[in-house]
Amino acid sequence: MKILVLNSGSSSLKFKLYEDKYPIANGVIEKIGEHQGKTTLQSLKTQEKVSLDDPVPNHQRGVEMIESFFRQTGFLKNLNELDGCGHRVVHGGKNLTKPCVIDDKVLKEIRRVAVIAPLHNPAHIIGIRAMMEAAPKVKNVAVFDTAFHSSLPEHAFMYALPYDFYEDEGVRKYGFHGTSHSYVSKKAAEFLGIEYDKFNAITAHLGNGASLCAIENGKSIDTSMGFTPLEGLMMGTRCGDLDPAIMSHLVRILHYTTEELDVIMNKKSGFLGICGHNDLRDVENLIEQGDQKAKLAKDMYIYRLVKYIGSYFAILPRTDALIFTAGVGENADDIRKLVCAKLAHLGFELDENINKGLRGELKLISKQSSKVKILIVPTDEELEIASITESLIK
Ligand code: AMP
Repeated sequence: MKILVLNSGSSSLKFKLYEDKYPIANGVIEKIGEHQGKTTLQSLKTQEKVSLDDPVPNHQRGVEMIESFFRQTGFLKNLNELDGCGHRVVHGGKNLTKPCVIDDKVLKEIRRVAVIAPLHNPAHIIGIRAMMEAAPKVKNVAVFDTAFHSSLPEHAFMYALPYDFYEDEGVRKYGFHGTSHSYVSKKAAEFLGIEYDKFNAITAHLGNGASLCAIENGKSIDTSMGFTPLEGLMMGTRCGDLDPAIMSHLVRILHYTTEELDVIMNKKSGFLGICGHNDLRDVENLIEQGDQKAKLAKDMYIYRLVKYIGSYFAILPRTDALIFTAGVGENADDIRKLVCAKLAHLGFELDENINKGLRGELKLISKQSSKVKILIVPTDEELEIASITESLIK
């Protein structure tokens, strides 16, 4: 089966083409709508690669470029030959709690939820529509980042605000990165030989965006991101948890607008806000040069991670595994070491020899004596979307 996975942003289209679950092509079209585009398309079978800076006026043109690349490489004559197309959709709201084939009703609901995901859902709709127009015979499937967390109990997803905000405006914790938390926890359970519906774990998706998830019997029972992907851990450019009164203080004293505060909290905070760099590799380089703010940023990051993992350890009746994934989780051995060292008294014993230098490999990295197994599991959200799409259209 040939399945295309699309991740549409407001000015970008990222894709991966699978044939019987093996990736055969991928690429990204950026700067859509700008005077100069940035396109990279590559065959993973022949290593044939196309890089272009031609302007791409809209997502429809982007989809056409993907189609002509597939024709050129011989993968497909046209997009109608696809067996299905899976779309990453960040927010499903409280009604779209499972992946589903997209019809008018689903599109309407994704649009309705756009008020609480203004950066993502409108862009997904543009990508889905472009695909529907280019390949009307192909079934489209939506896979929601929020879906895995639909099992959160009420006491975990409610905020202690007037109840009407929940009932009337849907203000509650939704959680994100669900496709990743679900994928890596299933992989880990399989690796450890534990049945998934009896598996308890804490998953740490640590990339530029970062979130933790507490999983009991294969179900998400809490997660660090909330109503939006801003809550929880400190991230590359996002602040994570804050006293919400800080925002009204800044409005009163410095007269910031809500839009400006959104930009500050989402794009100018986190590592970037504290030390001027959002990429952990740059932060590490600064620390080596003796930069005190970079050191402080890393200390804050570790501290919050430990605090959150500790709280999830407390709410789970038993913790079988701690799983590290995504850019930082898979690659940064020093972060894994520092976090686990602070959790050693709870039974998290990292084998430092195995951990050292390990990157992007599914591996058990705890000592034999460790009460909690510690693992690195590389995430693969696209593969998970392709597998879900395949099983839904079958
Ligand atoms: P992601 O969002 O999962 O693609 O993760 C991207 C982030 O992972 C980057 O911004 C870096 O902070 C981090 N990262 C990637 N590779 C490394 C590495 N080798 N060491 C430390 N951090 C890394």
